Amino acid sequence: MAIYLDNNATTKPSPEVCEAMLQALRSHFGNPSSSYALGRRAAGAMEQARDQVASLVGATAGSLVFTSGGTESNSTALSAGLALRPERRKILVSAVEHASVLDAAEAWAERGWVVVPVGVDGAGRLRTEALEEALDEETALVCIMAANNETGVRLDPGDWAERVHAAGALLHVDATQMAGKVPMHVREWGVDFAAFSAHKLHGPKGIGSLYIANNKVITPMIRGGGQEGGWRSGTPNVPGILGFGVAAAQAEAALGAMEQVAAMRDQLEAGLHEKLAGVTVQGGDAPRLPNTSSLRFEGVEAETLLALMDLEGLYASTGSACAAGAAEPSHVLRAMGLDRRAAREVVRFSLSRYTRREEIETVIDRVASLVASLRGRSKAGMSPRAITGDQR
Ligand code: PMP
Repeated sequence: MAIYLDNNATTKPSPEVCEAMLQALRSHFGNPSSSYALGRRAAGAMEQARDQVASLVGATAGSLVFTSGGTESNSTALSAGLALRPERRKILVSAVEHASVLDAAEAWAERGWVVVPVGVDGAGRLRTEALEEALDEETALVCIMAANNETGVRLDPGDWAERVHAAGALLHVDATQMAGKVPMHVREWGVDFAAFSAHKLHGPKGIGSLYIANNKVITPMIRGGGQEGGWRSGTPNVPGILGFGVAAAQAEAALGAMEQVAAMRDQLEAGLHEKLAGVTVQGGDAPRLPNTSSLRFEGVEAETLLALMDLEGLYASTGSACAAGAAEPSHVLRAMGLDRRAAREVVRFSLSRYTRREEIETVIDRVASLVASLRGRSKAGMSPRAITGDQR
């Protein structure tokens, strides 16, 4: 029996989501732009889904555009934000943003914009004095994620909206990992843009949403038939959207259950601490999402441990999307001050409301035993690297 603890990478769609999507394929196949009843029914179902997503994230339905996911939402927010402040040339990004923000910003840097990374402290919290110092009349856009995908550390971007606006800049929040895990309210935060993705909350892949506050007129990234109020052309992904709607409604109803998820996450950390020395929680001193645990096992290469866990049907990850064996260690952990070697010793466990206590008990037992044996082997002169043939 496999145990899946990689829910920040993606989640299993809930049975109700699968059912809603099948229904959509069978019954709502009309084009939502068509004016006859079949099209109108599809359009109506889409609007219900938009309401469900809006309710989860604290937005009005009219301020949400459906996109292909978090990546597209982030890219669109960057171009839209910069287009709204054409006279300014500076973008501030937290140093721990997801690649879909950092790489999009990098593309703007190649076109002449100045990208300023804002650092975090050892617990992954934003260095507020660094942000304040960098924020000026040249700043067009500030990107601060709501919660980090690798550590679960919450950056609370809502605290910044007033200051960013006072400087005449706009604020974009990648809330892809926060939505569905803790209550959130983008309108109360007062941010300008926010990104969401359905597959992080037991919805389908390839569908997400971008929140655009106050009816801002943005330059569409994808042009054509003018769907989504002209913000994003293309015949909408109706099954995906309806799946997203059901996933959002279920996640909202289950927000209370995330306390039990936090308790299991704490149980995992306590259990491993009890059985092993040299285990540290990355971001453990900061406010975190209830489901995420980023653990360093000193002296053990994460990739090796993960490969052995995989053989036993235990699924977790390093948390960075690097190609195994080749890429740089996590930029998030490096920004938190870990050296390259320490950063390579970190495994991310991410739980969901479907995780069970027995699974956590099994993971504690198996991971403790694998870590102990890998440490034993490396002490005996048999480097864990030799097991994978990794010669770095
Ligand atoms: N932002 C964050 C913080 C993420 O974790 C992810 C998914 N790994 C994305 C954006 C991208 O979302 P999607 O997979 O829907 O493109």
